[in-house]
Amino acid sequence: MFQPELETLPRPQLKALQDERLRHLVAYLYERVPFYRQRFQERGLSPERIQRTEDLLQLPFTRKQDLRDHYPLGLLAVPKEELARIHASSGTTGKPTIAPYTRRDLEVFAEVVARSLAAGGAKPGMLLHNAYGYGLFTGGLGLHGGAERLGLCVIPASGGVTERQLLLINDLKPEILACTPSYAQTLAEGLARQGLEPEAISLKYAILGAEPWSETLRASIESGLGVKATNIYGLSEVIGPGIAQECLERQGSHLWEDHFVAEIVDPERGEPLPPGATGVLVLTPLTKTGMPLLRYWTGDLTYLIEEPCACGRTHRRIGPILGRTDDMLIVRGVNLYPSQLEELLKEFPEVAPFYQIVLRRPKTLDELELKVELKPSATSIDPQGLAERIVEKVRQRLGLTMQVSLLAPGQAPRSEGGKLRRILDERGKL
Ligand code: ADP
Ligand code: ZN
Repeated sequence: MFQPELETLPRPQLKALQDERLRHLVAYLYERVPFYRQRFQERGLSPERIQRTEDLLQLPFTRKQDLRDHYPLGLLAVPKEELARIHASSGTTGKPTIAPYTRRDLEVFAEVVARSLAAGGAKPGMLLHNAYGYGLFTGGLGLHGGAERLGLCVIPASGGVTERQLLLINDLKPEILACTPSYAQTLAEGLARQGLEPEAISLKYAILGAEPWSETLRASIESGLGVKATNIYGLSEVIGPGIAQECLERQGSHLWEDHFVAEIVDPERGEPLPPGATGVLVLTPLTKTGMPLLRYWTGDLTYLIEEPCACGRTHRRIGPILGRTDDMLIVRGVNLYPSQLEELLKEFPEVAPFYQIVLRRPKTLDELELKVELKPSATSIDPQGLAERIVEKVRQRLGLTMQVSLLAPGQAPRSEGGKLRRILDERGKL
């Protein structure tokens, strides 16, 4: 562990630390950010009313729209001169939001990433190949800062140019790979094309995140690269990657609760859900100073795991991200998350974990085409029969009729380094 005393802090102490930090945060925001002061005043709340994390329920959520309304820097709590860096979200779901950091924020960012890397197997002295994109995206520089903090040596490869990445991995022999899961898969396939065995390369651990991924993809990456792969989670509005990270037990990702308060709420009504229920993750960063937020609505769907973890860390875990509310497709009135299709495809051993969803509206009704890739080993099957079986299962399970087409191995879109876009929405296009 990077910070064993904090990572194994007994829960009563962890809770007391959260409450104390929350009181400080609320007073800080009330004093410095007109948007939050107004929100308190509108509700007739004085900041002293928020004493414990349970009291957060009295406050409204902060949503992406609030950040857009105050674009770019309207929610700053410090003078601009005190900022040290500015990142932006990837803009997966619209205009990017701005993520400003003070020097202190960068220290917190590095600390949580260092903890995360250590939880995923990294040790000081190891070499990390960082194929997260460097730039506005928080992945590249975020992992970089945390790796240096932990005492690793970093290869700042950034995304793209897969051949060169493989050459560097081959020659420099890093133990750790950090990138998106879809790009790890691209690297694994590139390796196979070069005829290299996973055992022949030096990689031992892969720290993967920034997009949803499945156990099937994990298995494929682990065998393709010879690594133990763990999940890292985060979003730029709250700090970036490193908010939660799987330990090597790999039974959920520890959310670093001394820095972030987590709630799981009902996606429609916003009410708190009972332990273990799936809902939207709402996060309050406790220690940020540049642009702290209260109750940030991540839109990510997951659940909290309260049971103690065998690794000894006391911080609660989140399950995998099952989708994001803004990813929900509404097709002819039926709500559909891409992860539901992915889950269903697992039941067909002939198909690889790569797919694409194309939405069209040729006349007035939406039509959905699901393109699924065959495994290399499945070339002798009856494609028509398989497609029909998938159509039927989707109809039974999800109540939707869609067209299914099969792609030859390697034909579904692959990541070139960043997040993979699996949904092609052509509605509105002629
Ligand atoms: P954008 O919202 O534009 O993609 P970010 O680059 O800040 O902006 O990405 C944050 C989002 O990426 C999260 O809200 C979540 O939806 C997704 N994400 C990050 N890490 C993971 C992960 N480990 N598993 C699934 N989704 C993730
Ligand atoms: Zn653990």
